[in-house]
Amino acid sequence: MSRRKPDIYERQKQIRNQEYWQSHPLREKYPEVTGLVIKMSFKDYDERSNPKPRQVEFSQESKAFFKIDCPYRECVSGGFDFSSAIDELVTSHLDKLDGTITCQGWQDKERIGKHRCFLELSYTIFAKYKNDS
Ligand SMILES: [Zn+2]
Repeated sequence: MSRRKPDIYERQKQIRNQEYWQSHPLREKYPEVTGLVIKMSFKDYDERSNPKPRQVEFSQESKAFFKIDCPYRECVSGGFDFSSAIDELVTSHLDKLDGTITCQGWQDKERIGKHRCFLELSYTIFAKYKNDS
């Protein structure tokens, strides 16, 4: 028996883990930031039910890895990347930033190239800085 090849979901998890471990801590990437919070809610325009709202918090010791998996386990190459939003937030020294991101993944592995996920995520990111009281 040959060893089973990792499937597409295991592969994307491995890549994600690798990126996570290669990321620097928040205090190195944004030394002036003491904490970040991303609040997310989801809206699905397909027949699927909306995933529950989520919140992710980052401390100075957290990895500055701002990609969040799509809540749909079947979704291929999906997810939400907050890297540029957080960059904008911190560079402009804002306390919060709102926006939406649409998942560009494929709905499941049978529908690669055919049907995108298009789950819509609305977010508010809150930042705390060193000089804040
Ligand atoms: Zn998705």
